Amino acid sequence: MTTDANLYDAIERSHDTTWQDDVRAGVRQVRDLASLPLSPAEREAAQRAAANHKVRIPKAYLDLIDWNDPADPIRAQVIPSTDELVEQEGELDDPIADHEFSPVPRLTHRHADRVLLFPTYQCAVYCRFCFRKESLTSIGRGYTREALKLALAYIADHPEIREVILTGGDPLSLSDKALAEIRAGIEAIPHVRLLRIHTRVPVALPSRITPGLVAALQGRLMVTVVTHFNHPREITDAAEAACRIMRHAGFVLLNQSVLLKGVNDSVEVLEELCRELMYRLGVKPYYLHHGDLARGMAHRRTTIAEGRALAGALRRLLSGICNPTYVIDLPEGGGKVPLGPCYVEGHDGEAWRIRGQDGEVRTYAEIVGEDSRRS
Ligand SMILES: *Cc1c(COP(=O)(O)O)cnc(C)c1O
Ligand code: SF4
Repeated sequence: MTTDANLYDAIERSHDTTWQDDVRAGVRQVRDLASLPLSPAEREAAQRAAANHKVRIPKAYLDLIDWNDPADPIRAQVIPSTDELVEQEGELDDPIADHEFSPVPRLTHRHADRVLLFPTYQCAVYCRFCFRKESLTSIGRGYTREALKLALAYIADHPEIREVILTGGDPLSLSDKALAEIRAGIEAIPHVRLLRIHTRVPVALPSRITPGLVAALQGRLMVTVVTHFNHPREITDAAEAACRIMRHAGFVLLNQSVLLKGVNDSVEVLEELCRELMYRLGVKPYYLHHGDLARGMAHRRTTIAEGRALAGALRRLLSGICNPTYVIDLPEGGGKVPLGPCYVEGHDGEAWRIRGQDGEVRTYAEIVGEDSRRS
C-alpha cells in the first residue's frame, strides 16, 4: 500500500463531516448570527457592524469559540463588533496599494519576479481585520475563465515573473475544477516556476483540503501554500490532517500571522503558535505582520514598539525555523519590510557594535581580504 493511500484513509476517519456540511452549518449571512449564543445586545451590535464587512464562519471554526469568554481570541477574529464602525483618520481602503500596482484587472505587480493574482474575491471565512475587506464587499467578482484572461496574458508577456501568488479572496474557496483550470493556465507559461497559494482554508475550513483539491494543484510547478494561523487554538486535529495531506503532496507549507491586539499580542501565545505550527503541522512561520491601516481596525492594532518587543522575545525563545519575520507592509506600495528586532548599534570603520542575544553589546572587528577593503 502506498503512503498516500494510508494518508487518505486517515483523513476520511478524522473528518466526521464533509466540508460542504461545515459550510452549510456555519454562519453564511448576517441573519445566521441570530443562531449564535449571543446576548440580545451583542447580537444587535454584531448585526449592525456586519453592515461594513461580510460575515461567513464555517461550523468547524465556530466550534472553536468559547462563548463563555466575551474576549475569546477566536471569536474576536470572526464575530463583528461595533468597534469596527469606529474609523480613524489616516486609515485606508487599500492599505498596501494593491490597486495602484495593478496593470490589468485581477493582478498586482509590485516586485519584478512575482505577481498577485486574484481569481476570486470570496473567502471561506471573513476575518474582521481583513486588509482587503473593501475589495471583498463588491459583488460579481467570483472566478470565471474570462476574468483572468488579461492577467494570464500579462504574466506570459513578462518573462521576469517567476512566482504567481493566488490570493484574493481565498483561492481555496474555489472548486477543484476551477483550481485545476487556473493551475493549468499558469503552468502553460514557461517562465513561471512556482505557484503560491495564500489561504485561510486550512484554518477555518480544514475539511476542504481533500485529495481532489491537492491533485488539482499538482503539475509542473513547485507549489507553496501559505496558511494564515493566528492563534494556537486554531491548530486542531482537522488542521493537522489538512496540513499532512498537503505535505505528502510535496507542497512547501509556510504561515503568515497578523499581530492582533487581544488575539495574539503576547509572548506566550505567539511562542506556542510558532512552535506548534512547525512541530505539529510542519508549517514554517514565515511572516508576522504588523496590523495594516485597514478601516475600523484601530482596536486590534498594537503599537510598533509592542510588536518589536514581542519579536525580540520570540527571537530569543524560538529556534530559527520556528521564528517568523516581523514585517510591516508600507502604504503607497513601499512593500513589506522587517521592523526588527535590530541588533546593530552602529560602527566605527571596521569596528561594529552589535547587541548579542544576551543583551550585551559586543564589538565585532571586521577582517576582510585586500580586495574588499579597497572597494
Ligand atoms: C506580499 C506581496 C508579495 C509577496 O511577497 P513575499 O515577501 O515574497 O512574500 C508579492 N507581491 C505583493 C504585491 C505583495 O503585497
Ligand atoms: S481569508 Fe484573507 S482575504 Fe478573506 S477575509 Fe480573511 S484575511 Fe481577508
